[in-house]
Amino acid sequence: MTPAAAPAESPSAPTYGHFIGGAWREPIGGRTFESRNPARRQEVVGRFAAGGADDIDLAVQAARAAFPAWARTPMPERADILLRAARLLADRKEALAELMTREMGKVLTEARGDVQEGIDMTLYMAGQGRRPSGETVPSELRQKRCFTERVPIGVVGCITPWNFPLAIPTWKVMPALLAGNAIVFKPAEDTPLMAVRLVEILIEAGLPAGVLNLVTGFGEDAGAALVRHAQVPAISFTGSAEVGHAIAAACGGAGKRVGLELGGKNAMIVLADGDLELAVDGALWGAFGTSGQRCTATSRLVVERSAVAEFTERLVARVGQLHLGDGLDPATDVGPVINERQLHRIHGYTEAGQQEAARLLTGGAIATDGALGEGFFYRPTLFTDVRPAMRIAQEEIFGPTTAIIPVDDFEEAMTVANGTRYGLSLAVYTRDLQRAMAAVDRLEAGIVYVNAPTIGAEIQLPFGGTKWTGNGHREAGTTAMDEFSEWKTVYIDYSGRLQRAQIDTHQTG
Ligand code: ADP
Repeated sequence: MTPAAAPAESPSAPTYGHFIGGAWREPIGGRTFESRNPARRQEVVGRFAAGGADDIDLAVQAARAAFPAWARTPMPERADILLRAARLLADRKEALAELMTREMGKVLTEARGDVQEGIDMTLYMAGQGRRPSGETVPSELRQKRCFTERVPIGVVGCITPWNFPLAIPTWKVMPALLAGNAIVFKPAEDTPLMAVRLVEILIEAGLPAGVLNLVTGFGEDAGAALVRHAQVPAISFTGSAEVGHAIAAACGGAGKRVGLELGGKNAMIVLADGDLELAVDGALWGAFGTSGQRCTATSRLVVERSAVAEFTERLVARVGQLHLGDGLDPATDVGPVINERQLHRIHGYTEAGQQEAARLLTGGAIATDGALGEGFFYRPTLFTDVRPAMRIAQEEIFGPTTAIIPVDDFEEAMTVANGTRYGLSLAVYTRDLQRAMAAVDRLEAGIVYVNAPTIGAEIQLPFGGTKWTGNGHREAGTTAMDEFSEWKTVYIDYSGRLQRAQIDTHQTG
């Protein structure tokens, strides 16, 4: 079960095992599953081990065994391994991007961006390995030194989704490794091959056996077992809000740390004084890039009423020009959605919108003509006359669907934009600096954009959301290390006598 570099085409698609304790292994239960190309469902990209609780336990024991030596390895030495991994990722960028398009469907230019984000994150974390990671703080007592340092947590469970199959794993794995943790990594069942490739690269870069363990499989089996495992003190999860909150509840009850990056219902506000052509460009990219399958996707367009007619006319024309197809075809603007279940779920939202009397302007159908019928393609969909309380204005769709919500003025735009339970990414288009800054002040989200769509995060800044979207953690940037390390506070008293804080320093009378 060693992963071969064979062309991953069905029916001879290779079978991949788990990677545990430095070796590829068959799943204990012997079960496997397939990863298929969402643009051509008959194409099997690979067969993968379907892990369960026994595989997870094996991986956790391997991680526990590797942890002490890895935690003692100097941080710059750990960072050097990341640097080598970043170089390998860069060397293989094109091959990884093509594989990503075949496994996950996003168009090739975006797949290259996903790999680049992984390279950037890995390089960034390598650099963080030589930065200060603590503070010297003055003591109130004489002959006493106080400082803080980051220490690893132990075995960290990383559970990732399929929409950024390389970038998101690097957001977790790289800081977790740099901080000195050992990892059990459970990638999404729709994109296990990208996870295998990432693990191979880290091994090649020199990561010691057992430090990073990969268990592929389904969320309710492998994922749930990882969350439950008593010797995994921290979980980092990116995925749906439903699953994330259930995981948080399980972790809370067991006294575990949990970092959550969940969904969004992101809005772009278009004020009448804004550059409408720029806003249309932004809406197209924000709503239909990655077929709308980004947690930051622009799924609401909150437009000041006096600009609605012109904005809508321009946007409808542009949506009509979007070319749906296989992401490997350079003519393609919008690729497939991830799987059949998601295809029907997205269509269910079109039906919900129509039932609630939103007006469908374009799209709203599963594409079945010609080669599109072989994959999971949904026509880019635009609704208007959407009211804020409608399901399509409140629930995360995760597909190429967006909704124009007309509002009377700036005040109503703020209320509507903030009026969902999510708090990930909000954008405002205006040429008025005062209104732009007022929006920055008032928008309730982890990320706010001015004159740019709701997607487009850069790895050197914190990423995450408020309200239902998260639980206070931020990935990426310097904040990434907070999720994957503990603080240790150290007091060194070299006075040779008992010194009592607060008491000896405040003697009265
Ligand atoms: P999506 O709808 O985007 O697939 P999910 O939240 O279902 O999002 O999945 C994100 C990740 O969480 C995947 O790796 C999936 O296997 C995993 N997962 C799903 N259900 C559970 C669960 N009950 N416990 C742990 N992990 C899970």
